[in-house]
Amino acid sequence: MVVVMQEKATEPQVESVVARLVEMGMDVHRSTGVSRTVLGVVGQGQPNKALIEIMDGVQEVVRISEPYKLASRTFRQEPTVVTVGDVRIGGDEVVVMAGPCSAETEPQVRAAAAAVRRAGAKIFRGGAFKPRSSPYSFQGLGEAGLRMLHDAAKAEQMALVSEVMDVSQIPLIDKYCDIFQVGARNMQNFTLLRELGRSRKPVLLKRGISATIEEWLLSAEYVLSGGNTNVILCERGIRTFETATRNTFDISAIPVVKKMSHLPVVADPSHGAGRRDMVAPMARAAVAAGADGLLIEVHCDPDHALSDGAQSLFPAQFDRLMAELRIIAPALGRTICLESSSRRGWGS
Ligand code: PEP
Ligand code: MN
Repeated sequence: MVVVMQEKATEPQVESVVARLVEMGMDVHRSTGVSRTVLGVVGQGQPNKALIEIMDGVQEVVRISEPYKLASRTFRQEPTVVTVGDVRIGGDEVVVMAGPCSAETEPQVRAAAAAVRRAGAKIFRGGAFKPRSSPYSFQGLGEAGLRMLHDAAKAEQMALVSEVMDVSQIPLIDKYCDIFQVGARNMQNFTLLRELGRSRKPVLLKRGISATIEEWLLSAEYVLSGGNTNVILCERGIRTFETATRNTFDISAIPVVKKMSHLPVVADPSHGAGRRDMVAPMARAAVAAGADGLLIEVHCDPDHALSDGAQSLFPAQFDRLMAELRIIAPALGRTICLESSSRRGWGS
């Protein structure tokens, strides 16, 4: 249920509505919009709508028919902008996050960070805990990898996103990273999602390999209902009957989710396509479809990468893609970061 307060509602009026709802056993999530306050009311059972409607300062009470409540457009009409340092995800800029699939060695991480930053990436990506299909594949360097990623991101003045696979890893990832990445395989790890809801650090939530959009938004709801409003959704391809690509990159999910939810949506064409030659066309299409950002794997020697080399771009390919995006983004009324050699703040 959503309680829309009147534009002129006073703070004590808002507070007494909140208190009444809490008394009815509900959780209340407050969203202060440009002109009015909106209260998202969640919990088990339905509070008495009529009793709230007659309270002072209340404009209207609307039931949210979707199963996901706080993630829905009914709860919040304006887009949510997630802020990481001076980077805004979900605003006008298309934010590019790039880096290797995994941290392997100090020089490898440093070289990738320098290359992506030079090309215009604003956020560095890299995994230290890797969810691999086989237990015999490279599993990541753990804390040593996180330290390398953190130091490289810092040296290049970028924020860092890295995957958290388990509740027990939260304090460690929290120490080194600016954004928690929840991988596709963990999209329905509800214990992990609940725990991340207690943090206020942004969560990049990947769509599960066979998850519907509704299930994906319900997973976001786990984080939001804990009070963490900083959720970024990431489309990374789903499993279909098609075998020509690693996954089927669901570009239609981008405008669909934007209609259903106020949360920012970024696209990961690297895992979506699984092949280096398909990454740029999918990235261009994702931006054209309205993605708020991209997550792209880049490696300076991808043919010797310990994970996902086949889908990792060479720095020169990433440079070219960024140049193309600098043509596409403005055509859609969006901005994108200039390459660092010519960077004087944000350009369009
Ligand atoms: C990754 O980003 O390297 C990764 C493992 O992604 P996903 O969870 O989408 O497979
Ligand atoms: Mn990967």
